[in-house]
Amino acid sequence: MIHTQQREVILSVLKEAARPLTREEILSLGRQQIPRLGSATVNRAIRNMTAAFQIIGVEFPGQPRRYELPAESEHPHFICRSCNKVFDLPVAMQLPQVHAPKGFVVTGGEIVYAGTCPDCSNQK
Ligand SMILES: [Zn+2]
Repeated sequence: MIHTQQREVILSVLKEAARPLTREEILSLGRQQIPRLGSATVNRAIRNMTAAFQIIGVEFPGQPRRYELPAESEHPHFICRSCNKVFDLPVAMQLPQVHAPKGFVVTGGEIVYAGTCPDCSNQK
């Protein structure tokens, strides 16, 4: 029961944020729903949910690992250089075909844009 509840909190937090979140962001947003949510239990839930493909881990250079809900389609990510938050860019996208050299097997890719998010660009 407890496990189901944690799983649901994590899913709802990710759904509401609608962008990839770090472990810490998931924990602090989750605590708004369950104040006694424990760090170790969240870590364990994240591990199990990642293994079950209920959430997807995404990594960007120089950034902590983030998690998002499985997407229906390929989409680029966006890093705000001001607040360091990562967003999904809601645009249809296809990864370019890569003719990899012999011996390389390409199984996926990631397109990352950078700039300033709406919150940060409105500050000035
Ligand atoms: Zn920002």
